[in-house]
Amino acid sequence: MSKYWSDFVATLDPYTPGEQPAVQNLTKLNTNENPYPPSPRVLAAMQQSINGNVRLYPPPNADKLKQTIADYHQLSVAQVFVGNGSDEVLAHVFNAFFRQSQPILFPDISYSFYPVYCGLYAIDYKTLPLAEDFSLNLDDYARANGGIIFPNPNAPTGRLVGLNAIEKLLQVNSQSVVVVDEAYIDFADTGSSAVALLQRYDNLLVVQTMSKSRSLAGLRIGYAMGSAELIEGLERIKNSFNSYPLGHVQLAAGVAAIEDEDYYQEMRQRVIASRETLTQSLQSLGFDVLPSAANFVFARHNSHGAEALAQALRDKKVIVRHFKKPRIEGFLRITVGSDTENALLIDTLTAIFEG
Ligand SMILES: *Cc1c(COP(=O)(O)O)cnc(C)c1O
Repeated sequence: MSKYWSDFVATLDPYTPGEQPAVQNLTKLNTNENPYPPSPRVLAAMQQSINGNVRLYPPPNADKLKQTIADYHQLSVAQVFVGNGSDEVLAHVFNAFFRQSQPILFPDISYSFYPVYCGLYAIDYKTLPLAEDFSLNLDDYARANGGIIFPNPNAPTGRLVGLNAIEKLLQVNSQSVVVVDEAYIDFADTGSSAVALLQRYDNLLVVQTMSKSRSLAGLRIGYAMGSAELIEGLERIKNSFNSYPLGHVQLAAGVAAIEDEDYYQEMRQRVIASRETLTQSLQSLGFDVLPSAANFVFARHNSHGAEALAQALRDKKVIVRHFKKPRIEGFLRITVGSDTENALLIDTLTAIFEG
């Protein structure tokens, strides 16, 4: 608290990101980063982008990056919005579409940034509980609302909801915006993305990021896809906030990351394969692991408490994420690392259990 703060600032309850420790030699499985580097073509494009142009502002409409994303997803350029990480895109989404008289709806267990944006923009919200098995039943959302948002696959559970259920929701809910936060969709089966529904539903917005599947968390590139009218709403907010959210280097990297399709597919398949191996290893150590379509698993041990386990792992230089929240305090969220990192996690857990 400070006497210089406005009353409003004092009411905020900011998001706490997973830590980025300065300590060396940690096995870092806490923030769902990709264990593999970005495409070599991305690094080359970044280097090339550092030239005489840094003196100049970047293109405010990020035309080339938008066109590249539009072509990749078979959309028009007017259906694409880009921002400084999908967190920024989401902030603009809440500001543009969710300041309504009815409360917005999202699951009780989902991305913990959503209530933070509600605080920032004075948005009323109501959470709806996930089922006992942590699956998301979209039938529950067929009720009056000022907007709907959910991650798919969900975070931090990793569970995926199918396109049929999303389409059914869009059919009964044509009056407000439905946002699908697809930060992890590239680790699900091909064809799981709600982008396929965009041509039929003007109120659908799909948000994706290059942070996870394209190994660019450090560059901050996120984007949204939707009808031209939704995108125009986002542009109005963005151009009232910061005209240049992405610099030259980010723009060049984003284009190259989409263009190197072979590299992306290979890394994506590697992570998916490692997720299955990691799941089996955790199960054989006595963990109950939720079915994951993401690059992390959500796991609960049958006898050890999660908070103590997270601490014991940390003491041995392996970091995972634990959320001290109702319903999920027994779980650890573990990022799928490289096979070497995953093996080290399993060996460390084995050593802890053997005491
Ligand atoms: C990681 C994540 C984001 C944010 O991604 P950035 O593009 O790095 O800002 C958004 N939503 C969910 C559910 C995430 O897990």
